[in-house]
Amino acid sequence: MTDEHARINLLDFNRQGMENFFAEKGEKPFRASQLLKWIYHEGVYDFDQMTNISKVMRAELQQQAEIRMPECIEEHPSADGTIKWLLRVDSGNAIETVYIPEGDRATLCVSSQVGCTLNCTFCSTATQGFNRNLSTAEIVGQILFATDRIGRKENRGEHVITNVVLMGMGEPLMNFDNVMRAIDVMTEDFGFGISKRKVTLSTSGVVPALDRMREFTDVSLAVSLHAPNDELRDKLVPINRKYPIKVLLDACRRYVEGKQRRRVTFEYVMLDGVNDRPEHASQLIRLLKTVPAKLNLIPFNPYPGSSYRCSSEQTMEYFRSRVNGAGIVTIIRKTRGNDVDAACGQLVGNIKDRTRRSQRMGHNQNYKQGQMQVKLKERHI
Ligand code: SAH
Repeated sequence: MTDEHARINLLDFNRQGMENFFAEKGEKPFRASQLLKWIYHEGVYDFDQMTNISKVMRAELQQQAEIRMPECIEEHPSADGTIKWLLRVDSGNAIETVYIPEGDRATLCVSSQVGCTLNCTFCSTATQGFNRNLSTAEIVGQILFATDRIGRKENRGEHVITNVVLMGMGEPLMNFDNVMRAIDVMTEDFGFGISKRKVTLSTSGVVPALDRMREFTDVSLAVSLHAPNDELRDKLVPINRKYPIKVLLDACRRYVEGKQRRRVTFEYVMLDGVNDRPEHASQLIRLLKTVPAKLNLIPFNPYPGSSYRCSSEQTMEYFRSRVNGAGIVTIIRKTRGNDVDAACGQLVGNIKDRTRRSQRMGHNQNYKQGQMQVKLKERHI
């Protein structure tokens, strides 16, 4: 390990962690809020510029700590304002982060793992296997990076990014501790200060972790359902074999219990001839009537090697109106950034190829070569 990597990355700390860090140095807790404000409100990462911190302390920080976020490998701006970044987290691994502006809000879609262990059959992240969990710093760093790129508002502490969704690569509940700490930084006043309602964790249904999550946070919950019966969901979302639909829905009910006006968003990817038949709509209605639910129908986004096709527009609209007509608020999610493969997890094949190449050849020069080889594909859904 080089000296550089032995340093403590301050982006790994939530407020409590930062206070502990300073307490060990015999410093008062307010040092933590000073440091956090410099990082998250001011965008200052150079200890020398942190003028309200003593010179002695700055020198000590310089030696022992760092503020390091993922580096940009590629930036793909889409015609609709969506921006997709490929970010390098270490010499062999890259992740995706997507910025999606819409009216007066802007959502950042962040990754929680490099790859994924869950093997959902329609998901391109699954095709690359699992490499590792992201650290808190690497999750938080995606938001900080995007904030720097997009620009800060004049108002101190007010961010351009209004919403964060953990819907990028990976299963956030399989990286529990790092994700919970990152959620702290997203929602704490001295962090990004985003309201809990505007942070959404999306899970395919890791039930024990979902139950644990209630003790840590009450951010918005999205659940990747994708099938209205166990037989089909066992195939599409294999973790269903371990935690079947009934068990999952029980956990969802527990998550929102006692919270006013909170509903779980269920995600349902529309797969032609697979899960989009009238009987599927009927089954789905029966299920979702038992939970405070909203439904997001997601047009399937094809990727090289995938055998599924997206349902037709008529089918999606039929499905939407059936479920909606049964009293469950249902929307068809707009696809954004199609011209740059912006749907989460869609550039993974390319990343994987480049990651492999970079392992063979040494990464720096190679990422550049990979960049030249990325073809922007058009999506026809
Ligand atoms: N692992 C978490 C979060 C990441 S996936 C989860 O499963 O929820 C974010 C969402 O994108 C999930 O609902 C996932 O099922 C969906 N998704 C994955 N591949 C897709 C594709 N090819 N087209 C459309 N949606 C997809």
